[in-house]
Amino acid sequence: MEKLFLHVCCGPCASYPLEFFQIERPSLNLELWFHNPNIHPKAEFNRRRDSLAFLALHHGLKVDFSSPYEPEKFMAELMKNPAPPERCRTCYALRFEAAAAEAAARGHQAFGTTLAFSRRQKHDLIMEEGGRAAKKHGLEFYYEDWRPGWHRGHEIARELGLYRQNYCGCIFSEFER
Ligand code: SF4
Repeated sequence: MEKLFLHVCCGPCASYPLEFFQIERPSLNLELWFHNPNIHPKAEFNRRRDSLAFLALHHGLKVDFSSPYEPEKFMAELMKNPAPPERCRTCYALRFEAAAAEAAARGHQAFGTTLAFSRRQKHDLIMEEGGRAAKKHGLEFYYEDWRPGWHRGHEIARELGLYRQNYCGCIFSEFER
């Protein structure tokens, strides 16, 4: 694999994966893409976006932030079944479908996600929905279990002074924290 389209959810979750790629796969051409309509409210979206921009700058990388923030479309789908874990499945499916379509349009053969860093995410559903979206667009889903780097990732985020959120992203998770 020479290049990878990486869906990035936030700075803290990207901290360890970016270090991992730098050490383990220094020649890999990474394309970073921020697409997270699940984040509520807009001010929180902006804080996570800015924190990721700072991290990427630290690594000399660019992030594509051009994907529009459309929480109303996201919520319309989520509300069809808002009970967990199904709402998280929908949340992953929506973000991965968008990521896979974008990756295919840009000529990639694989896409992955920094959600695979978090101990709080549902990795079985990430693998299922990532695989489904990838297959639909003729891609591979790149899954790396980055959870062993949990402490290192948070150490990097602390060292760089990144904003570290205390809820997953959607309005439900904001109330559940
Ligand atoms: S809890 Fe997190 S993964 Fe689940 S729906 Fe909300 S934002 Fe998405």
